[in-house]
Amino acid sequence: MIQAKGMAAMAAKQALVPYSFERREPKEHDVVIDIKYCGICHSDIHMTREEWGGGSPFPMVPGHEIAGVVRAVGSKVTKHKIGDHVGVGCLVDSCAECAHCKQDLEQYCVEGQTGTYGAMERDGSAVTQGGYSNVIVVKDDFVLQIPKALPLDKAAPLLCAGITLYSPLNHWNAGPGKKIAIMGLGGLGHMGVKIARAMGAEVTVLSHSENKREDAMKLGAHHFLVAKTQDVFQQNASKFDLIINTVSSADIDMTSYFNLLKLDGTMVSVGAPEKPLSINVFPLIMMRRSYAGSAIGGIKETQEMLNFCAKHNITPEIEVINPSQVNEAYERVLKSDVRYRFVLDMGKI
Ligand code: NAP
Ligand code: ZN
Repeated sequence: MIQAKGMAAMAAKQALVPYSFERREPKEHDVVIDIKYCGICHSDIHMTREEWGGGSPFPMVPGHEIAGVVRAVGSKVTKHKIGDHVGVGCLVDSCAECAHCKQDLEQYCVEGQTGTYGAMERDGSAVTQGGYSNVIVVKDDFVLQIPKALPLDKAAPLLCAGITLYSPLNHWNAGPGKKIAIMGLGGLGHMGVKIARAMGAEVTVLSHSENKREDAMKLGAHHFLVAKTQDVFQQNASKFDLIINTVSSADIDMTSYFNLLKLDGTMVSVGAPEKPLSINVFPLIMMRRSYAGSAIGGIKETQEMLNFCAKHNITPEIEVINPSQVNEAYERVLKSDVRYRFVLDMGKI
Protein backbone atom coordinates (compact mmCIF):
# COMPACT_ATOMS: atom_id res chain seq x y z
CA MET A 1 0.00 0.00 0.00
CA ILE A 2 1.04 3.60 -0.55
CA GLN A 3 0.94 5.98 2.39
CA ALA A 4 -0.92 9.23 1.71
CA LYS A 5 -1.65 12.35 3.71
CA GLY A 6 -4.29 14.89 3.01
CA MET A 7 -7.14 17.00 4.35
CA ALA A 8 -10.43 15.24 5.10
CA ALA A 9 -13.91 15.96 6.35
CA MET A 10 -14.47 13.35 9.08
CA ALA A 11 -18.25 13.91 9.02
CA ALA A 12 -20.75 16.06 7.12
CA LYS A 13 -20.54 19.84 7.65
CA GLN A 14 -17.36 19.55 9.74
CA ALA A 15 -14.15 21.48 9.16
CA LEU A 16 -11.50 19.57 7.22
CA VAL A 17 -8.58 18.23 9.27
CA PRO A 18 -5.20 16.60 8.47
CA TYR A 19 -5.69 12.91 7.68
CA SER A 20 -3.37 9.97 6.93
CA PHE A 21 -4.62 7.05 4.82
CA GLU A 22 -3.53 4.40 2.32
CA ARG A 23 -3.78 4.21 -1.46
CA ARG A 24 -4.02 0.86 -3.22
CA GLU A 25 -0.91 -1.01 -4.32
CA PRO A 26 -0.62 -0.05 -8.03
CA LYS A 27 -1.92 -2.61 -10.53
CA GLU A 28 -0.53 -3.14 -14.05
CA HIS A 29 -2.67 -0.35 -15.59
CA ASP A 30 -2.22 2.09 -12.70
CA VAL A 31 -0.35 5.39 -12.58
CA VAL A 32 1.02 6.69 -9.27
CA ILE A 33 0.93 10.48 -9.23
CA ASP A 34 2.67 12.87 -6.83
CA ILE A 35 0.01 15.53 -6.50
CA LYS A 36 1.44 19.05 -6.70
CA TYR A 37 -1.74 21.13 -6.80
CA CYS A 38 -5.48 20.63 -6.36
CA GLY A 39 -8.19 23.19 -7.08
CA ILE A 40 -11.14 23.83 -4.77
CA CYS A 41 -14.41 23.34 -6.65
CA HIS A 42 -17.75 24.44 -5.20
CA SER A 43 -18.82 20.80 -5.63
CA ASP A 44 -16.31 19.90 -2.88
CA ILE A 45 -18.30 22.15 -0.55
CA HIS A 46 -21.65 20.65 -1.63
CA MET A 47 -20.19 17.14 -1.07
CA THR A 48 -18.56 17.69 2.32
CA ARG A 49 -21.76 19.32 3.56
CA GLU A 50 -23.93 16.54 2.12
CA GLU A 51 -25.95 19.12 0.19
CA TRP A 52 -26.67 16.62 -2.58
CA GLY A 53 -28.33 14.10 -0.30
CA GLY A 54 -27.23 12.01 2.63
CA GLY A 55 -25.23 8.82 2.72
CA SER A 56 -21.87 10.22 1.58
CA PRO A 57 -18.93 8.17 2.86
CA PHE A 58 -16.75 9.80 5.52
CA PRO A 59 -13.88 10.39 6.13
CA MET A 60 -13.88 12.20 2.77
CA VAL A 61 -10.77 13.62 1.11
CA PRO A 62 -12.28 15.95 -1.52
CA GLY A 63 -10.59 17.27 -4.66
CA HIS A 64 -11.04 16.57 -8.37
CA GLU A 65 -8.89 19.24 -9.96
CA ILE A 66 -5.61 17.39 -9.65
CA ALA A 67 -2.27 18.25 -11.28
CA GLY A 68 0.94 16.40 -10.55
CA VAL A 69 3.92 14.42 -11.74
CA VAL A 70 4.06 10.69 -12.47
CA ARG A 71 5.99 8.85 -9.74
CA ALA A 72 5.58 5.30 -11.09
CA VAL A 73 3.61 3.32 -13.68
CA GLY A 74 2.30 -0.25 -13.84
CA SER A 75 3.80 -2.76 -16.28
CA LYS A 76 1.07 -2.30 -18.93
CA VAL A 77 0.95 1.50 -18.94
CA THR A 78 2.02 2.94 -22.30
CA LYS A 79 0.43 6.42 -22.38
CA HIS A 80 2.24 7.88 -19.36
CA LYS A 81 5.78 7.69 -18.03
CA ILE A 82 7.68 8.69 -14.92
CA GLY A 83 8.13 12.48 -14.76
CA ASP A 84 5.17 13.34 -17.02
CA HIS A 85 2.97 16.26 -16.01
CA VAL A 86 -0.50 14.77 -15.63
CA GLY A 87 -3.97 15.61 -14.39
CA VAL A 88 -6.99 13.84 -12.94
CA GLY A 89 -10.48 15.29 -13.05
CA CYS A 90 -13.83 14.25 -11.64
CA LEU A 91 -13.83 10.59 -12.67
CA VAL A 92 -11.40 7.72 -12.22
CA ASP A 93 -13.31 4.81 -13.77
CA SER A 94 -16.39 3.75 -15.77
CA CYS A 95 -17.68 0.49 -17.29
CA ALA A 96 -15.93 1.09 -20.67
CA GLU A 97 -18.57 -1.12 -22.36
CA CYS A 98 -21.83 0.83 -22.54
CA ALA A 99 -22.91 2.93 -25.53
CA HIS A 100 -21.94 6.15 -23.76
CA CYS A 101 -18.48 4.98 -22.72
CA LYS A 102 -17.89 3.76 -26.27
CA GLN A 103 -18.67 7.30 -27.51
CA ASP A 104 -16.03 8.75 -25.14
CA LEU A 105 -18.79 10.02 -22.85
CA GLU A 106 -17.63 8.22 -19.70
CA GLN A 107 -19.20 10.91 -17.53
CA TYR A 108 -22.58 9.57 -18.64
CA CYS A 109 -21.66 5.87 -18.16
CA VAL A 110 -24.89 3.86 -17.98
CA GLU A 111 -23.56 1.94 -14.98
CA GLY A 112 -22.51 5.19 -13.31
CA GLN A 113 -19.09 6.78 -13.49
CA THR A 114 -16.73 6.32 -10.55
CA GLY A 115 -16.10 9.72 -8.98
CA THR A 116 -12.59 10.71 -7.94
CA TYR A 117 -13.74 10.83 -4.33
CA GLY A 118 -16.70 9.63 -2.31
CA ALA A 119 -17.44 6.73 -4.71
CA MET A 120 -17.06 2.96 -4.42
CA GLU A 121 -14.35 1.48 -6.66
CA ARG A 122 -15.87 -0.75 -9.38
CA ASP A 123 -14.42 -3.87 -7.73
CA GLY A 124 -15.92 -2.82 -4.39
CA SER A 125 -12.50 -2.74 -2.74
CA ALA A 126 -12.52 0.81 -1.33
CA VAL A 127 -14.10 4.23 -1.35
CA THR A 128 -12.23 6.67 -3.61
CA GLN A 129 -10.37 9.58 -2.00
CA GLY A 130 -9.55 12.77 -3.86
CA GLY A 131 -6.85 15.28 -4.56
CA TYR A 132 -6.51 17.26 -1.30
CA SER A 133 -3.62 14.85 -0.72
CA ASN A 134 -0.02 14.26 -1.74
CA VAL A 135 -0.36 11.09 -3.84
CA ILE A 136 -3.04 9.25 -5.85
CA VAL A 137 -3.22 5.95 -7.79
CA VAL A 138 -5.38 6.13 -10.94
CA LYS A 139 -6.11 3.81 -13.88
CA ASP A 140 -4.12 4.99 -16.94
CA ASP A 141 -7.17 5.68 -19.15
CA PHE A 142 -8.39 8.30 -16.66
CA VAL A 143 -5.09 10.19 -16.45
CA LEU A 144 -4.70 13.26 -18.68
CA GLN A 145 -1.48 14.62 -20.14
CA ILE A 146 -0.89 18.25 -19.16
CA PRO A 147 0.86 20.13 -21.98
CA LYS A 148 4.17 21.68 -20.87
CA ALA A 149 2.88 25.16 -21.79
CA LEU A 150 0.47 24.99 -18.83
CA PRO A 151 2.01 25.50 -15.38
CA LEU A 152 0.77 22.81 -12.98
CA ASP A 153 -0.86 25.19 -10.49
CA LYS A 154 -2.91 26.84 -13.23
CA ALA A 155 -3.63 23.56 -15.00
CA ALA A 156 -5.36 22.07 -11.94
CA PRO A 157 -8.69 23.97 -12.21
CA LEU A 158 -8.99 23.09 -15.89
CA LEU A 159 -9.66 19.46 -14.88
CA CYS A 160 -13.14 20.39 -13.63
CA ALA A 161 -13.93 24.10 -14.08
CA GLY A 162 -12.31 24.14 -17.52
CA ILE A 163 -13.93 21.03 -18.95
CA THR A 164 -17.35 21.73 -17.40
CA LEU A 165 -17.57 24.91 -19.48
CA TYR A 166 -15.66 23.71 -22.55
CA SER A 167 -17.97 20.71 -23.06
CA PRO A 168 -21.32 22.56 -23.35
CA LEU A 169 -19.73 25.45 -25.28
CA ASN A 170 -18.42 22.87 -27.72
CA HIS A 171 -21.62 20.80 -27.82
CA TRP A 172 -23.87 23.82 -28.45
CA ASN A 173 -21.43 25.26 -31.03
CA ALA A 174 -20.22 28.45 -29.40
CA GLY A 175 -18.23 30.34 -32.01
CA PRO A 176 -18.23 33.34 -34.34
CA GLY A 177 -21.65 34.95 -34.73
CA LYS A 178 -22.99 33.40 -31.50
CA LYS A 179 -24.07 35.45 -28.49
CA ILE A 180 -23.24 33.55 -25.32
CA ALA A 181 -24.03 34.51 -21.73
CA ILE A 182 -22.35 33.09 -18.67
CA MET A 183 -24.40 33.27 -15.44
CA GLY A 184 -22.19 33.61 -12.34
CA LEU A 185 -18.56 34.71 -12.48
CA GLY A 186 -16.95 32.17 -10.16
CA GLY A 187 -14.52 29.32 -10.77
CA LEU A 188 -16.56 27.80 -13.59
CA GLY A 189 -17.93 31.07 -14.95
CA HIS A 190 -14.58 32.78 -15.43
CA MET A 191 -13.31 29.76 -17.41
CA GLY A 192 -16.47 30.00 -19.52
CA VAL A 193 -15.67 33.62 -20.38
CA LYS A 194 -12.12 32.80 -21.44
CA ILE A 195 -13.01 29.68 -23.43
CA ALA A 196 -16.09 31.14 -25.17
CA ARG A 197 -14.04 34.20 -26.14
CA ALA A 198 -11.26 32.00 -27.55
CA MET A 199 -13.90 30.07 -29.54
CA GLY A 200 -14.84 33.38 -31.18
CA ALA A 201 -18.23 34.03 -29.56
CA GLU A 202 -19.60 37.34 -28.25
CA VAL A 203 -19.58 36.91 -24.48
CA THR A 204 -21.75 38.52 -21.79
CA VAL A 205 -21.43 37.95 -18.05
CA LEU A 206 -24.65 37.89 -16.03
CA SER A 207 -23.61 38.56 -12.44
CA HIS A 208 -25.59 39.19 -9.27
CA SER A 209 -23.65 42.33 -8.27
CA GLU A 210 -21.53 45.15 -9.73
CA ASN A 211 -18.41 43.84 -7.95
CA LYS A 212 -16.90 41.88 -10.82
CA ARG A 213 -17.56 44.23 -13.78
CA GLU A 214 -13.95 45.33 -14.23
CA ASP A 215 -12.64 41.77 -13.81
CA ALA A 216 -15.14 40.41 -16.34
CA MET A 217 -13.92 42.79 -19.02
CA LYS A 218 -10.28 41.97 -18.25
CA LEU A 219 -11.09 38.25 -18.50
CA GLY A 220 -12.37 38.83 -22.04
CA ALA A 221 -16.11 39.47 -21.72
CA HIS A 222 -17.60 41.90 -24.24
CA HIS A 223 -20.48 42.89 -21.95
CA PHE A 224 -21.38 42.73 -18.25
CA LEU A 225 -24.90 42.87 -16.87
CA VAL A 226 -26.08 42.92 -13.29
CA ALA A 227 -29.04 40.61 -13.72
CA LYS A 228 -31.18 41.82 -10.86
CA THR A 229 -33.77 44.33 -12.01
CA GLN A 230 -36.63 43.80 -14.45
CA ASP A 231 -35.25 46.69 -16.59
CA VAL A 232 -32.10 44.71 -17.33
CA PHE A 233 -34.08 41.59 -18.22
CA GLN A 234 -36.47 43.58 -20.46
CA GLN A 235 -33.70 45.48 -22.28
CA ASN A 236 -31.87 42.23 -23.07
CA ALA A 237 -34.86 40.03 -23.93
CA SER A 238 -34.38 37.45 -26.73
CA LYS A 239 -30.70 38.29 -27.08
CA PHE A 240 -28.67 35.12 -26.51
CA ASP A 241 -28.19 31.89 -28.45
CA LEU A 242 -26.86 30.09 -25.39
CA ILE A 243 -26.78 30.80 -21.65
CA ILE A 244 -24.67 28.67 -19.34
CA ASN A 245 -25.84 28.79 -15.74
CA THR A 246 -22.97 28.19 -13.30
CA VAL A 247 -24.79 29.55 -10.25
CA SER A 248 -24.41 27.35 -7.16
CA SER A 249 -27.62 28.59 -5.53
CA ALA A 250 -31.27 27.94 -6.39
CA ASP A 251 -32.16 31.42 -5.25
CA ILE A 252 -32.59 32.74 -8.81
CA ASP A 253 -35.60 33.54 -10.96
CA MET A 254 -35.11 31.23 -13.95
CA THR A 255 -38.16 32.65 -15.75
CA SER A 256 -36.45 36.00 -16.21
CA TYR A 257 -33.31 34.31 -17.53
CA PHE A 258 -35.24 32.15 -20.02
CA ASN A 259 -36.62 35.35 -21.54
CA LEU A 260 -33.07 36.42 -22.41
CA LEU A 261 -32.84 33.56 -24.94
CA LYS A 262 -33.58 33.98 -28.63
CA LEU A 263 -36.06 31.79 -30.50
CA ASP A 264 -34.64 28.25 -30.25
CA GLY A 265 -32.01 29.40 -27.75
CA THR A 266 -30.73 27.05 -25.06
CA MET A 267 -30.16 27.43 -21.34
CA VAL A 268 -27.69 24.89 -19.95
CA SER A 269 -27.40 24.36 -16.21
CA VAL A 270 -24.02 23.23 -14.95
CA GLY A 271 -24.44 24.80 -11.50
CA ALA A 272 -25.82 22.14 -9.15
CA PRO A 273 -27.63 23.80 -6.22
CA GLU A 274 -28.72 21.92 -3.14
CA LYS A 275 -32.38 22.94 -3.58
CA PRO A 276 -34.57 22.43 -6.68
CA LEU A 277 -35.04 25.33 -9.09
CA SER A 278 -38.52 26.66 -9.64
CA ILE A 279 -39.38 26.86 -13.33
CA ASN A 280 -42.20 28.52 -15.24
CA VAL A 281 -42.47 26.72 -18.60
CA PHE A 282 -44.21 29.53 -20.51
CA PRO A 283 -41.05 31.35 -21.63
CA LEU A 284 -39.78 28.00 -22.95
CA ILE A 285 -43.02 27.24 -24.80
CA MET A 286 -43.46 30.67 -26.32
CA MET A 287 -40.06 30.83 -28.08
CA ARG A 288 -39.33 27.10 -28.53
CA ARG A 289 -36.45 27.51 -26.10
CA SER A 290 -34.65 24.53 -24.57
CA TYR A 291 -33.48 23.91 -21.04
CA ALA A 292 -30.63 21.41 -20.69
CA GLY A 293 -27.93 20.21 -18.33
CA SER A 294 -24.34 19.13 -18.80
CA ALA A 295 -21.85 17.21 -16.67
CA ILE A 296 -18.08 17.79 -16.91
CA GLY A 297 -16.77 16.08 -20.08
CA GLY A 298 -15.38 12.73 -21.18
CA ILE A 299 -11.68 11.88 -21.03
CA LYS A 300 -11.08 12.46 -24.75
CA GLU A 301 -12.79 15.85 -24.63
CA THR A 302 -10.89 16.78 -21.46
CA GLN A 303 -7.58 16.12 -23.24
CA GLU A 304 -8.85 18.19 -26.19
CA MET A 305 -9.71 21.03 -23.76
CA LEU A 306 -6.22 20.92 -22.17
CA ASN A 307 -4.64 21.12 -25.62
CA PHE A 308 -7.00 23.95 -26.61
CA CYS A 309 -6.10 25.92 -23.46
CA ALA A 310 -2.37 25.40 -24.08
CA LYS A 311 -2.74 26.50 -27.71
CA HIS A 312 -4.79 29.61 -26.87
CA ASN A 313 -2.83 30.45 -23.72
CA ILE A 314 -5.91 30.10 -21.50
CA THR A 315 -5.35 29.61 -17.79
CA PRO A 316 -7.55 30.28 -14.77
CA GLU A 317 -7.02 33.16 -12.33
CA ILE A 318 -5.88 31.43 -9.17
CA GLU A 319 -5.00 32.08 -5.54
CA VAL A 320 -2.55 29.41 -4.34
CA ILE A 321 -2.98 28.59 -0.65
CA ASN A 322 -1.64 26.20 1.97
CA PRO A 323 -3.82 23.10 2.59
CA SER A 324 -4.25 24.26 6.21
CA GLN A 325 -6.22 27.27 4.86
CA VAL A 326 -8.86 25.12 3.16
CA ASN A 327 -11.65 25.85 5.66
CA GLU A 328 -11.25 29.63 5.33
CA ALA A 329 -11.20 29.20 1.56
CA TYR A 330 -14.55 27.35 1.70
CA GLU A 331 -16.09 30.28 3.62
CA ARG A 332 -14.80 32.72 1.01
CA VAL A 333 -16.14 30.64 -1.89
CA LEU A 334 -19.57 30.65 -0.21
CA LYS A 335 -19.45 34.48 -0.10
CA SER A 336 -18.50 34.66 -3.83
CA ASP A 337 -15.20 36.09 -2.56
CA VAL A 338 -12.74 34.17 -4.73
CA ARG A 339 -10.96 35.53 -7.78
CA TYR A 340 -11.39 33.05 -9.27
CA ARG A 341 -10.18 29.66 -8.04
CA PHE A 342 -8.38 28.59 -4.88
CA VAL A 343 -5.63 26.06 -5.55
CA LEU A 344 -4.08 24.03 -2.73
CA ASP A 345 -0.29 23.65 -2.81
CA MET A 346 -0.14 19.96 -1.89
CA GLY A 347 3.62 20.08 -1.49
CA LYS A 348 2.88 21.90 1.78
CA ILE A 349 0.68 19.20 3.30
P1 NAP B 1 -18.27 29.40 -7.39
O1 NAP B 1 -16.83 29.67 -7.68
O2 NAP B 1 -18.77 29.55 -6.00
O3 NAP B 1 -19.13 30.29 -8.40
C1 NAP B 1 -20.53 30.35 -8.37
C2 NAP B 1 -20.97 31.77 -8.78
O4 NAP B 1 -22.39 31.79 -8.74
C3 NAP B 1 -20.54 32.86 -7.83
O5 NAP B 1 -19.25 33.35 -8.09
C4 NAP B 1 -21.59 33.93 -8.10
O6 NAP B 1 -21.23 34.69 -9.26
C5 NAP B 1 -22.83 33.12 -8.43
N1 NAP B 1 -23.74 33.03 -7.26
C6 NAP B 1 -23.49 32.46 -6.06
N2 NAP B 1 -24.54 32.61 -5.24
C7 NAP B 1 -25.48 33.27 -5.95
C8 NAP B 1 -26.81 33.71 -5.67
N3 NAP B 1 -27.38 33.50 -4.47
N4 NAP B 1 -27.48 34.35 -6.65
C9 NAP B 1 -26.93 34.57 -7.84
N5 NAP B 1 -25.67 34.19 -8.16
C10 NAP B 1 -24.98 33.55 -7.22
O7 NAP B 1 -18.63 27.90 -7.77
P2 NAP B 1 -18.05 26.97 -8.94
O8 NAP B 1 -16.95 26.15 -8.40
O9 NAP B 1 -17.87 27.79 -10.16
O10 NAP B 1 -19.29 25.95 -9.14
C11 NAP B 1 -20.55 26.45 -9.53
C12 NAP B 1 -21.60 25.36 -9.47
O11 NAP B 1 -21.32 24.38 -10.49
C13 NAP B 1 -21.64 24.57 -8.16
O12 NAP B 1 -22.99 24.29 -7.84
C14 NAP B 1 -20.89 23.28 -8.51
O13 NAP B 1 -21.26 22.19 -7.69
C15 NAP B 1 -21.34 23.06 -9.92
N6 NAP B 1 -20.48 22.21 -10.74
C16 NAP B 1 -21.09 21.44 -11.69
C17 NAP B 1 -20.33 20.67 -12.55
C18 NAP B 1 -20.97 19.87 -13.63
O14 NAP B 1 -20.35 18.96 -14.15
N7 NAP B 1 -22.19 20.20 -14.03
C19 NAP B 1 -18.94 20.65 -12.42
C20 NAP B 1 -18.35 21.46 -11.45
C21 NAP B 1 -19.13 22.24 -10.62
P3 NAP B 1 -21.52 36.29 -9.36
O15 NAP B 1 -20.84 36.89 -8.16
O16 NAP B 1 -20.91 36.68 -10.65
O17 NAP B 1 -23.00 36.47 -9.36
ZN1 ZN C 1 -15.67 20.34 -9.76
